[in-house]
Amino acid sequence: MENEINYNPDSAPRYTGPVTFMRMPVVRDPSKLDIALIGVPYDGGVENRSGPRHGPREIRNMSSFMRTVHHVTRVNPYKLCRIADMGDVTFTNPFQIETSQADITAFFRKVHVAGAVPLSAGGDHSITLPILRALATDGPVGMVHIDAHTDTADEELGSKLSHGTPFRRAVEEGILDPKRTVQIGIRGAQNSEEGWEFSLKSGMRVIFIEEFTKLGVEAVIAEARRITGTGSTYISFDIDSLDPAFAPGTGTPEVGGMTPIQAQGLLRGLRGLDLIGGDVVEVSPPFDPSGITALAGVTMMYEILCVLADAVVQRKSR
Ligand code: MN
Ligand code: MN
Repeated sequence: MENEINYNPDSAPRYTGPVTFMRMPVVRDPSKLDIALIGVPYDGGVENRSGPRHGPREIRNMSSFMRTVHHVTRVNPYKLCRIADMGDVTFTNPFQIETSQADITAFFRKVHVAGAVPLSAGGDHSITLPILRALATDGPVGMVHIDAHTDTADEELGSKLSHGTPFRRAVEEGILDPKRTVQIGIRGAQNSEEGWEFSLKSGMRVIFIEEFTKLGVEAVIAEARRITGTGSTYISFDIDSLDPAFAPGTGTPEVGGMTPIQAQGLLRGLRGLDLIGGDVVEVSPPFDPSGITALAGVTMMYEILCVLADAVVQRKSR
């Protein structure tokens, strides 16, 4: 496949030029893309300390550290696919969560209808619900959800659209298939068990961090592949799945989490699934003075980009 977007990573030093995801050009028309890199600067769903609205900007900044050829798989996504930065979702009224979610859905629907695969940087985790609304046009999708939290509470501080509730809504709306959903890395005390219980009762496979550690990355990959199967699958990566030692800049840190190398291996192991998009959420630059969290976030984005590129190629060859 000919890559119509000319990307020469050696053409200029990495500290120069406009700040875009992966130093790619900005292309606003998704019909020209196989994979659209999208910023969703919205954190109106955060319950405790806010800040992920600044995530896309700082993830773009740290993305200048990313290179092209994967050191394990030798995949170069930029050779396989047309990839560009599509810019940020714009919000008509960011103070209003319902209309903001409608703005997100409208943006991602355009991307999906044009045939491009979205890979986005949040934003808090409330953004994944309106993204799934845009993508699940052919019925409910499966999901690999990596997070400290199940995000399946019924409500939070009276809101049914907070970053603690998106996957309960998605199941209720019939856009997420709980039986093809696996939640990995769950941990941390809750004030109520109802979120965990909803996940289990709805049929999701929930892998708490203790089971993750006991099974090991390879066995968890096998389980994630078994659960998601051959149908359309979305990847949602909450940066708080990582231990706060590696990703302190997030709103709801939970001690006792994954190491980056575990998370990288896990994402890499999703190669070959029918992947239709992904996101990295909850990077909160105000709590990330060294930039280490944004760097971890964009590194996970690169891992997802590699497996998405492979999925695009697989679909085109069918
Ligand atoms: Mn989350
Ligand atoms: Mn979380």
